[in-house]
Amino acid sequence: MIVIGAGTAGCIVAQELSNAGRTVALFDEGAGSAVGPLSRLPLTDGPQVRWYSTGDGGLLPRGRGPGGSALINAGYFLRWHQADFGGWPWPIETVARAYDLVDGGGAAGWLRASRVADDELSPIAAAFEHAATAAGLPAVAGPWSDVGVNRLRLNRRGGDRWTAWDAIEPLRDVAVHGGARVDRIERVGPGWAVATDSAIYSAPTVVLAAGTLGTARILLRSNLVDGPELEFIEHREQLVRYHVRGAAPPATALLHTVIHLADGVELRPYNGGFASYIPGVEPDAAAVGVALMRPQSRGRLTLDPDGELRVALPIPTADDRRRIDAGVRTVRELLAGTELKGVAEPGSASADEPLGTSQHACGTTPLGTATTDDGELRDHAGVFVADGSVLPTGGSAGPHATIAAVAAVIGNRLAG
Ligand SMILES: Cc1cc2nc3c(=O)[nH]c(=O)nc-3n(C[C@H](O)[C@H](O)[C@H](O)COP(=O)(O)OP(=O)(O)OC[C@H]3O[C@@H](n4cnc5c(N)ncnc54)[C@H](O)[C@@H]3O)c2cc1C
Repeated sequence: MIVIGAGTAGCIVAQELSNAGRTVALFDEGAGSAVGPLSRLPLTDGPQVRWYSTGDGGLLPRGRGPGGSALINAGYFLRWHQADFGGWPWPIETVARAYDLVDGGGAAGWLRASRVADDELSPIAAAFEHAATAAGLPAVAGPWSDVGVNRLRLNRRGGDRWTAWDAIEPLRDVAVHGGARVDRIERVGPGWAVATDSAIYSAPTVVLAAGTLGTARILLRSNLVDGPELEFIEHREQLVRYHVRGAAPPATALLHTVIHLADGVELRPYNGGFASYIPGVEPDAAAVGVALMRPQSRGRLTLDPDGELRVALPIPTADDRRRIDAGVRTVRELLAGTELKGVAEPGSASADEPLGTSQHACGTTPLGTATTDDGELRDHAGVFVADGSVLPTGGSAGPHATIAAVAAVIGNRLAG
């Protein structure tokens, strides 16, 4: 079996296949996997980042190399709300069991997800938690996220990131091909040929796990989708900037807590300006992200004339915009309240334009519609998709934990 992509999903699928004694070839376009401190997001030009173009000068980063985007992400690993799985082809018990594997049900799991402790909570995060609970929102307890204040779990060992690649070593019967970028796959007889930059491999079954953008590029280049484009889900985000009173002390991670509003908006009180966490960013004011987690709008993925992926981010519908605007008003109210007096300069709030993005692209080949319930492409037997591409809905929290859980289910079914 060939697995393309050694990110979160690819590693978990490879682990399940390896445990079942299957012979696997695991391809990744990156060759190395350097795990750094969670207090820095290494979004710099270098071997660990692949940049995808939005066609208008914008660039979107994705992790490159074993570990995938978890090598560069913010480390936040939250389950979605239970209500998010209403339209899924799997019963909630299946999802719950898979989450238990990857997050340990609240105590680590494969991805070593540990809760931000009270004594490491940044003053900014603590003040926002107080402000939100004073405004009547509940503090969410238990393994699932929900409407209210959700203290984050982070993938980490000590102060360092922890990726699925770290979790699965050592692998049995898995040949890892690093530095091998897959260009396309093609049916040959009963199986599939996989073409990289330098060689062609074949197998009866191929699992696409190159991340939503990487997998879309392969699907489009291989003419495995109807038409020239794929739609995707993204959590667009508006930043509300404000001035911190005094100096914001450096925190263990960019984000420690998130607030979920009832209409599907996530508020992210970042622990200061991005410049403290992302190399190369100009010094900037602190920010609260207002992220639209269950958008109606969809983005589009196409190939440019050179055959490279072009990403058109979703343009919010009127209802999406209404919910973002309501979230911005809520942040302004929180910033103006007494609980945040010690943290925020009064009257300093201003909303950034244009909208940003959460780097959460998903949902191009949804489970149960574009694929079978097991992730196999409906029109192409033997090709499975196991990464963020198959999320059928946008969810109420970041996608990482859910992608890991989905990969655990698909990997287990492939191995069985
Ligand atoms: C900067 C940033 C911050 C984020 N922060 C968070 C967060 O805090 N919380 C959260 O929930 N989510 C976050 N996300 C999203 C989350 O990290 C991703 O959705 C998740 O890691 C994707 O997992 P995946 O397995 O689908 O793909 P990935 O983990 O991206 O893995 C894809 C792998 O495929 C490889 N690959 C790609 N193309 C090819 C090819 N053609 N041939 C061979 N190999 C290929 C890549 O090298 C990579 O290793 C963030 C993302 C980014 C980029």
